[in-house]
Amino acid sequence: MEFLYAIINFLILCAILFVFGRKAAAKIFSDRLERVKRGLDEAERAEGEAESDADLPKIPASFSDALPESVLCETAAIRSRAEEEAERIRNRTEDTVTSLRREMLADARDRLIDAVCEKAAAMMAGEPYRSAIRAKEEQFADEIVRRMEITPGDIAYLKRHDVLYVTLTSAEPLPQSIVDRIGERALAMLEEVGGKPSYWVREDPELIGGFRFRVGDTVYDFTIKDRLYQLRRELENMPLTGREDAEALVRQAAEAVSSMTYGMSEFQLGRVLSVFDGICWMDGLADIMYGEVVEFENGERGMVLDIEADRIGCIIYGNYAKIESGTRVRRVGRIASVPVGEAMLGRVVDPLGRALDGGGRIFTDERRPIECAAPSIPDRAAVSRPLHTGIRAIDALVPIGRGQRELIIGDRQTGKTSIIVDTILNQKGTGTICIYVAIGQKDSAVMEIRDRLRQYGAMEYTTIVCAPASASASFQYIAPFAGAAMGEYFMYRGQDVLIVYDDLSKHAVAYREISLLLGRPSGREAYPGDIFYLHARLLERAAQLSPENGGGSMTALPVIETQAGDISAYIPTNVISITDGQIFLDSDLFNEGQRPAVNVGLSVSRVGSAAQTKLMKQVSSRLRMDLAQYRELAGFTQFGADVDAATRRVLESGRRMMAALKQKRYAPLPDWLQALVIFAVSEGLAADVDPGDMEAWSSLLAARMAEKYPELLNLLKLGGKLSPEEREVLKRAAADCGSAMKDEAA
Ligand code: ATP
Ligand code: MG
Repeated sequence: MEFLYAIINFLILCAILFVFGRKAAAKIFSDRLERVKRGLDEAERAEGEAESDADLPKIPASFSDALPESVLCETAAIRSRAEEEAERIRNRTEDTVTSLRREMLADARDRLIDAVCEKAAAMMAGEPYRSAIRAKEEQFADEIVRRMEITPGDIAYLKRHDVLYVTLTSAEPLPQSIVDRIGERALAMLEEVGGKPSYWVREDPELIGGFRFRVGDTVYDFTIKDRLYQLRRELENMPLTGREDAEALVRQAAEAVSSMTYGMSEFQLGRVLSVFDGICWMDGLADIMYGEVVEFENGERGMVLDIEADRIGCIIYGNYAKIESGTRVRRVGRIASVPVGEAMLGRVVDPLGRALDGGGRIFTDERRPIECAAPSIPDRAAVSRPLHTGIRAIDALVPIGRGQRELIIGDRQTGKTSIIVDTILNQKGTGTICIYVAIGQKDSAVMEIRDRLRQYGAMEYTTIVCAPASASASFQYIAPFAGAAMGEYFMYRGQDVLIVYDDLSKHAVAYREISLLLGRPSGREAYPGDIFYLHARLLERAAQLSPENGGGSMTALPVIETQAGDISAYIPTNVISITDGQIFLDSDLFNEGQRPAVNVGLSVSRVGSAAQTKLMKQVSSRLRMDLAQYRELAGFTQFGADVDAATRRVLESGRRMMAALKQKRYAPLPDWLQALVIFAVSEGLAADVDPGDMEAWSSLLAARMAEKYPELLNLLKLGGKLSPEEREVLKRAAADCGSAMKDEAA
């Protein structure tokens, strides 16, 4: 029964829910429908309004005339700036694309050259080439008979060894008539110079085809092997623009092969006598020149550094493990050189100009010899333009001029490299190209400098030539010369260059190592006698060229590390006497917290003050005297002597001035801002500033002046001498800013 009631209750509930629920659901749906309809109506109305907006009257063309001139100018300027920027980005992107293309094409070309040479060798080893070569044998024999000569070098060899080797080597047996004809002429020549008859005839299938005749060191070569060598050189030296496609590369190679003529090459050959520690002794190569490049059989190269009566010494550039006594050496016929050009900027390279930064191969069209004569006196002009380092202590007291050589000297860890990095940073926006040559530094230190320069956007105009401590002595030896060649490229094009050799003490040590290995007599401190000449000829290349020669300049900042402040050691005295002044960094000052630790007494610039701005000269003239006076008094009073009020005043202001010369790293200051602070301090405006707060005070003063007296700062920027009235105005303004700062602090 209960069950029946439950069913009836349930049915009643269902009926109620059906009646009321249907009503509620219908209401909800009708609300929604209403809202959607409203939305659609609104949208339709808005669309109608928008359409009617199009009917607004057009802005008349004369409207722009009503705008103020300044708005139009500003708009035009913004537009042209945007266009310039877009153009710059377009160019940069294009450069990147070109260099990527070149890189990939160069790889492809290397493989193509291998394949082409292999194919050419196989082809020329067979018919009909062999018969063609055989048909020319008579003609070549005539040419050899005509050109054959015994050089003075050969005669010297003959006198020493009593014999001169004459050899005829062919790929396959030669007709007897040719062998005899060449032999007769050679023996007649030998007789003329008093040599024994020594004529050998050999066969060597490796020559593939043709023959080669050798008298003493000179080789007259008609072989296929030599042709293939020449073909490879030619293909490797073909310029790549980056626009070639695969067909163009193949066409280039095919053209080179088809234009290959079967002619004679004449060169001098030598032989390795011994090789050790990157040094190689050779004989032969009678007419070789100092500094010339030689090529070993395995493709490695070296540079001649020593020519003795019966042997020639050279340094080997790369890996010398595969070179052994008996290896053939060939003259390349040019002095050692490095690639130069715009493409070197922003890169870290080794002393042969090869990329070390993983940024891909560097493609340049020009090379310069690493050793070259310095500009002569008539080609130079007087040093007259300043090269601002951005460091107060240097620009005010030991100013550097463009084209000058200024030595940076000090013990280890006294901030030598920091000064250089700041100077490079300060060249930003001046159009000066910077070359940083790192010799014997740690790899990590060089990479840190690179990162720092990149961080401040200075790598764009800088090349780092890196011969780290881990590199061979030969690399360390040639690094500064390679850097100088890269700098000269820009100097002779009329640009300004700053070159830094960090450091020449390690360069001297590398040269000493090479010299001792070459068996040269050692002199003072075991350095060879020509170490002075080595650094003199390097630094002599820094110059300010005359306007007729383009007016470019190269300023050199060599670095020398001293031992316990001893500037009278051999290498420091040498370089001090070569350069036009030195910035001496004192480790005592450094440890006292005076950074940069420039010792004002021992530092000097012999030409730079001629290049200082008139303003800087005016404001810093008293500074040097005052500091000298301070140093003298400070020396006396450090024993705790009782001093009178006047002396105390001098000491106080001296201390303040020294504090004003302190400067943080990576914060180079413009010249006129330096002048302002020095002016303020030497006028006694910082009399009650604590020496410890001087650095903060100087930057605050500069900021305050820029805010309150911008017109006075503009006057300073002109760099001219201040008239007494201008001095007074500046003094009052600086005093005003100073007292305002004091009030704020209080
Ligand atoms: P090395 O003999 O090893 O080549 P160096 O003489 O080139 O040394 P730096 O490497 O330039 O000296 O500097 C040595 C240390 O001095 C650095 O660690 C740097 O932090 C500090 N230093 C240099 N100049 C300043 C400066 N102006 N302000 C603060 N610290 C500095
Ligand atoms: Mg250093």
